[in-house]
Amino acid sequence: MNKTKKPAQSGSRWIVQALMVVIVIGGASLRNLLHPESRIVALWPELQGFCPFGAIQTIFRGLFDGSYLMRAGYSNQWVLLGVLVITLLFGAVFCSSLCPLGSIQEWMGKLGRRLLKRRYNPPVSRSLDMILKSLRFIVLGALFLAVAGVVAWNLDYINPSYALSHLWSSVVPLSAVLVLVLFLLLALRYERPWCRWFCPYGPVLGVVGRLSLFTIRRSTENCIDCRKCDRACPVHIPVSTQNKVSDVSCNRCMRCVSSCPVPQTLTIASPNREGTARIRSIYLSLFVLILFFLPLGIAAGASWYTPSSGYAPTASVETSDFSPDAISPMISLSTLVTQAGVSQETLTDLLGLPLDYDFSTLLVDIEEEDAYMDITVGFIRERMREYLQ
Ligand code: SF4
Ligand code: SF4
Repeated sequence: MNKTKKPAQSGSRWIVQALMVVIVIGGASLRNLLHPESRIVALWPELQGFCPFGAIQTIFRGLFDGSYLMRAGYSNQWVLLGVLVITLLFGAVFCSSLCPLGSIQEWMGKLGRRLLKRRYNPPVSRSLDMILKSLRFIVLGALFLAVAGVVAWNLDYINPSYALSHLWSSVVPLSAVLVLVLFLLLALRYERPWCRWFCPYGPVLGVVGRLSLFTIRRSTENCIDCRKCDRACPVHIPVSTQNKVSDVSCNRCMRCVSSCPVPQTLTIASPNREGTARIRSIYLSLFVLILFFLPLGIAAGASWYTPSSGYAPTASVETSDFSPDAISPMISLSTLVTQAGVSQETLTDLLGLPLDYDFSTLLVDIEEEDAYMDITVGFIRERMREYLQ
């Protein structure tokens, strides 16, 4: 056993987290401040465009009517590909390094740790933890029922990520803002409460991550049983008792690895013919950042991806060329009136909207209102097809 100095804590994860917050939340917020039909809006995805879970919803809803999350464009399909590769290689490292909401909760936790000292992030009882964790599956199930149209519900109403990127827009529901504030306050006391007990994406990545090539491994030969890794783990996994961390709650934050005082004892490694292949934790976050954007970059370079699926230069569409299937979610109702060559009265009648409805509303935003949740872009296309027959 070679006992030496504790390895320096890597700042690479912090840098990657900060970059992702700026790119995703900052970009989406800026996009929401701009005119909906501006060129930048056309080129930069909505928050959901960076969300791999949004991609799962898009695929699922696409099987029904092809309309859900149209505002997100198809960029999230490429993001999903990147995250699947990352998760199959390293586990749920997306949660610890790339998810902006997770990072902001973690930073709130740093403040909480300063304020509460040792009272920060106490373990919750096993039974309560199980009950809280099961909430994620309830949210996941409800979400798919909603996407399938079985129940009239929209995750945006309770989605703190959605609130975070739409704080300055008129479409953000108050309930989502309240959920965001609640979880940021809870994060002062508990580590990443949204991720641990509510986020529906966590269980999906956790289960896929169990197949990951690289995982946290402990060398029983080198271990001095100091249990520093247990104390460092924010989700209270008893790392010092395991040869390999297979808990689905592990988000590969690497704090256990950084806290271990004995080199080559706790590593993220994969078995191979020579023994194990290890990755230095300092490179992990940077590596996953590259893997995250690589499919997007390749797709954009090859013109395979449309950042905003709905964007189309509407002025060039002639009435004679109008096709319901090509209706863009990012046009306003008044643009649709022009393109389709119908009157406002006919359109409101077709869609079941009041005559005094605001015709500057984008099609994609109609379903955001409680009273018009059924008026999706798919529904509008269908009604226009029926009308033109
Ligand atoms: S401290 Fe270690 S075991 Fe705990 S979540 Fe982070 S990587 Fe996983
Ligand atoms: S930190 Fe954990 S793995 Fe490292 S020596 Fe201590 S008990 Fe063993």
